[in-house]
Amino acid sequence: MKPTIQRPVAPITSVSSPVVSPIQPSVVYASESPTALDGQYEGKTTGYTYAREGHPNADSLARRIDALEGIEGGVVTGSGMSAVAAVLLGLTKAGDHVVGGTQLYGRSLRMMAEDLPRLGIDTTLADVTDASAVAAAIRPETRMVLIEVVSNPTLRIADLDGIAQVCADKGVLLAVDNTFTTPRGLRPVDHGADIVIQSVTKLLAGHSDATLGWVAAKDKALNDRLRVFAVTAGLTASPFDCYLAERGLATFDLRFDRTQETAQRLADHLAAQPGVIKVLYPTRPDHPEAARAQSLLQGRGCNMVSFEIEGGRAAADAFAKAASGIAFAPTLGDVGTTLSHPASSSHRALTPEGRAAIGVSEGFFRVSVGLEDADALIACFDDGLRAARDI
Ligand SMILES: *Cc1c(COP(=O)(O)O)cnc(C)c1O
Repeated sequence: MKPTIQRPVAPITSVSSPVVSPIQPSVVYASESPTALDGQYEGKTTGYTYAREGHPNADSLARRIDALEGIEGGVVTGSGMSAVAAVLLGLTKAGDHVVGGTQLYGRSLRMMAEDLPRLGIDTTLADVTDASAVAAAIRPETRMVLIEVVSNPTLRIADLDGIAQVCADKGVLLAVDNTFTTPRGLRPVDHGADIVIQSVTKLLAGHSDATLGWVAAKDKALNDRLRVFAVTAGLTASPFDCYLAERGLATFDLRFDRTQETAQRLADHLAAQPGVIKVLYPTRPDHPEAARAQSLLQGRGCNMVSFEIEGGRAAADAFAKAASGIAFAPTLGDVGTTLSHPASSSHRALTPEGRAAIGVSEGFFRVSVGLEDADALIACFDDGLRAARDI
């Protein structure tokens, strides 16, 4: 048989259209001629060239998240941290200064503490529950303030409106990592944010099977810079992960509402149990920023609950073992409830005094509430609490 050259298969067309975005793993796209390719690069025609520069699955996912967050042209990246990196590294230069919240996501804090200073970008952390603390940290060379509205793991509420005002007055960019709150909790652009970040890995995709991020800037020129940096640095997302995330996103609002309802019940239940020292949940009246949570989140407490039990590490061990129906795993936003113990995981690098300063003791747990039956879940927590009291 005469050998033949394998040609790319032309797209198979159909008069009917798929109801699900097809996975398109092609890394390269063949053009008709150099002139046709020129036209594409010059923006006279549209089309894909090379997957690191963009691919259909990333774009269709990005357009869906854009619609949720109320910004156009967002970029899907390979992880939430790559979205943070695009903002912190792609929009700053040596000599700039960046202000971040004291309770940012651990890796964001690390980038602020180690990577930015190495590149000649000075950083300061400020208590974002207090807009005047942020104002005091701003210098003439401050380029950006990066905050999360609900902090990890103590679920404190940033003064988003106050900080947006400070940033607007001083001509500083405000970037909001909206992972914990999600666009169903609040849309940062409606409160004056210039840049919004999502770890899509968490609630948006929601099934702990895809690692992705999304980032967008309101200003077109800034957004273009984010996109170019993401392409140059290779922060590209996998088409397969984008497909999974789009599938997860289809049920995001239902999952959000259901987990929030259970979280509220769990928080109120835990607060009434012996051996529980405190419960942190944004819509509870005993939350330190209860009034702000009500106005910013409009009664939405989201799916995260933190609580502290008596008895230190021994009680914490007994609790985690006895509450065996709950995955003891340091993530959030999964369909299943997950429990994390910041003192031994996300906050282990801090000294006990450093942890005490933010209220994270050996008896402190953070819960990401999932879709389980609420009564069954609460019974599981009761098993844990009983074991912790019995040590
Ligand atoms: C998980 C998380 C990130 C990082 O996202 P990855 O997808 O794990 O890289 C950033 N910010 C917040 C608030 C997170 O919870």
